[in-house]
Amino acid sequence: MTDPTTATQPAPDAAALTALLQSELAPALSDGALALDADVVAAHSADTALFCPAEGAVALVRARSTEDVQATLRFAHAHHVPVVPQGARTGISGGANAVPGCILLNLAGMDRILEVDAAEQTATVQPGVINQALKDHLREHGLAYPPDPGSVAISSIGGNVATNAGGLCCVKYGVTRDYVRQLKVVLADGSLATLGPRTAKGVAGLDLRGLFIGSEGTLGVVVEVTLRLVPQLAPPLTAVATFPSEAVAAGVVAEFMATGARPSMVEMLDGATLGMLNDYGDFGLDAGAGAMLLVQSDGSGDPASAQREVEEFARIAEEAGALDVGFTDDPADSEAMVATRRLAQPAYEKYAMAHGGGQLLDDICLPRARMAEFFERLAEVRAESGATVAVVAHAGDGNLHPAVFFDAGDPAEVARAERAFEQLMELGLALGGTITGEHGVGYLKREWLARELDPATQAMHRAVKQALDPLGILNPGKMLAALDG
Ligand SMILES: Cc1cc2nc3c(=O)[nH]c(=O)nc-3n(C[C@H](O)[C@H](O)[C@H](O)COP(=O)(O)OP(=O)(O)OC[C@H]3O[C@@H](n4cnc5c(N)ncnc54)[C@H](O)[C@@H]3O)c2cc1C
Repeated sequence: MTDPTTATQPAPDAAALTALLQSELAPALSDGALALDADVVAAHSADTALFCPAEGAVALVRARSTEDVQATLRFAHAHHVPVVPQGARTGISGGANAVPGCILLNLAGMDRILEVDAAEQTATVQPGVINQALKDHLREHGLAYPPDPGSVAISSIGGNVATNAGGLCCVKYGVTRDYVRQLKVVLADGSLATLGPRTAKGVAGLDLRGLFIGSEGTLGVVVEVTLRLVPQLAPPLTAVATFPSEAVAAGVVAEFMATGARPSMVEMLDGATLGMLNDYGDFGLDAGAGAMLLVQSDGSGDPASAQREVEEFARIAEEAGALDVGFTDDPADSEAMVATRRLAQPAYEKYAMAHGGGQLLDDICLPRARMAEFFERLAEVRAESGATVAVVAHAGDGNLHPAVFFDAGDPAEVARAERAFEQLMELGLALGGTITGEHGVGYLKREWLARELDPATQAMHRAVKQALDPLGILNPGKMLAALDG
């Protein structure tokens, strides 16, 4: 396969580029925005993904303003230099990783909440605003921004838009895309475009705003976002149920959703995850269970409808053979359970560090009704690879995160783990799903995007890229790099 996103002309060599960066770019930027120190650049060169290259960046621009972003792209365009946009670098697919000869364009410092418009129920923010900081700010306005990736406390709104981030409450409240009203983006040549109206409705022109959401820094750089808000959400009722197996729990999710339920959270943790969490902290989870479901409902805004919904869940769970079902309407207890769920990733990291350091975190999304079948076939992948595979899932969305653990120092184990990781995506596609529900393609899954998209769709992707970034300078070698030419 060819790489259609590789710059068409060579960039200047490193020495010449450094001289140009100092003489041309630095004066056009805010004071101190350009860093050339190799250690500083290296420290900003990677997100959280394993097994993704991240070497070769030449410079780091810590943008302070839209003008900084425009100056950087004008420079990069003139000299054919690759640019890698970055938010908070919490990505899991290598999307924010350096590529050889690139400028890392980091937006984390553009972190101001510019406006909250009560009448429109919108917030306008710079891309570096941390998701949780926005949520906290909106509370005093009686408003809420629902999308809540597991990384809510550490990831940026710009990164959330660029990856179309999902999260725990998406099952009812949708993903980032559902809340983006207007985007300001800097294009590959440095020009500034405003995509979408700020108004509640608007059908003037093509939906280019939609094109940029989830484009992972390959089409332009998001410098301002106007987000649709909702009134503060009602406190939910929470139910927790444990099951003898993952497949039984998955079947319960499908059956519950088929009743027309609109829960605000349906999270699943398998037995391996429960064990790792217990090892990480004193949570008292039933590690003997095959799986646990954490279900929340805020009903239709009234406690009675929430109560009916969780009772319906409990009935289905008990009929399916749940080991235990419990409820709470105490907000502190609910929050503690959700907080425990959010600690799955740190618990995985602790387990990985104690078992050779290797962890590959997958992110497939399936039709809900096929999840039980996935877990039955997962047993074969576990047996064949010999690897420990733990699963957390935004199960209400069919979005599964199997994590494959292995000894990173043992080439045979690495090879088996990589094969298991691939088998999980093969299984996802075979069951009518997608290779990524929310973490994105980045570097990690670029070959897999080519396996998921049909030839006509791949050609459209390439045409869009060619139209918006003809020199191929925006995040080359990532999401679009393995599509057939
Ligand atoms: C513990 C943990 C839990 C997580 N849970 C979830 C989850 O539940 N749901 C989920 O969706 N993700 C989750 N993630 C993944 C990650 O947090 C999200 O992908 C997040 O949206 C990335 O935001 P960021 O600011 O860190 O972006 P980065 O990692 O810096 O960048 C991500 C991608 O976006 C591009 N990009 C960043 N900013 C911009 C910009 N301003 N303009 C253009 N392109 C840009 C980058 O080039 C890169 O391709 C989790 C990660 C961790 C570590």
